Amino acid sequence: MDLGLKDKTVVVTGGSSGIGLATVRAALAEGAKVAFCARGADRLSKVVDELIREYGGERIMAQAFSVLDPAANAAFAAQVAERFGGCDALVTNAGQGRVSTYADTSDADWREELELKFFSQLYPIRAFEAQLRATASGSITAVNSLLAYQPEPHMVCTSAARAGVQSLLKSLAVELAPEIRVNSILLGLVDSQQWQRRFDAREDQSQSRGTWFAELADRKAIPLGRLGQAEEAAKALVFLASPAASYITGARLEVSGGVSRFI
Ligand code: NDP
Repeated sequence: MDLGLKDKTVVVTGGSSGIGLATVRAALAEGAKVAFCARGADRLSKVVDELIREYGGERIMAQAFSVLDPAANAAFAAQVAERFGGCDALVTNAGQGRVSTYADTSDADWREELELKFFSQLYPIRAFEAQLRATASGSITAVNSLLAYQPEPHMVCTSAARAGVQSLLKSLAVELAPEIRVNSILLGLVDSQQWQRRFDAREDQSQSRGTWFAELADRKAIPLGRLGQAEEAAKALVFLASPAASYITGARLEVSGGVSRFI
């Protein structure tokens, strides 16, 4: 199936690692021009060098900044417009989860998490809204989590924030229609830097990566028996972001190996 992304511009936040990087690669493989950001300049520039070796430099641009900086989002959007002539698809992926219970989450932690989850959507969306409206196939595709519908007590503020973000996206799907489609993917557990960090900090340092991840999948009772790969999440994101999903808006797509328990 042709996704219709050739020569379109896809912007990915948090593109230097994990799901974001896999999305950058998947969009480049579809022939899109891709602009992406992340905070860490060193890792970003290594990734850019690698991608330029694979795809050439013409369709790639990257900028180091935090999506929580509204002025930096606006400046990035202006650069994308100048270099690629506008943005057709925005993938809001940047972020991370916070592991903490009600008892050990301070007010400052709550504020930080709510700010990350909401403004990592709002600032990039605001910065690219005019460009997305101006194209015939504007789309916003957000990375969200099953925690939005299936909260976990050990991730109390991330779960609450994710539910709020899902509500925000549903409202935006109405307010930004018909020019811009707004969809999300709901992740279960996907092998990425986030899980690599948790593996690196494992209690039993003698445990192999394979065993640790297999036990995790078992403990979480994932029907497909394993964690997802970043590329599997990226394929769903790129489809929803593309003109091939032209009649899909306000939708959520689970990429979780079947681990959700709600219908
Ligand atoms: P990774 O840690 O592998 O990648 C996160 C990416 O986001 C990196 O490029 C990171 O670069 C960037 N990033 C983080 N914060 C910011 C910021 N404030 N501004 C700009 N860039 C930022 O994690 P994943 O690929 O797993 O995570 C991708 C998204 O998926 C996240 O939003 C995460 O919460 C979500 N998710 C992941 C799940 C999983 O199982 N993997 C489950 C549920 C949700 P840098 O640090 O240099 O800024």
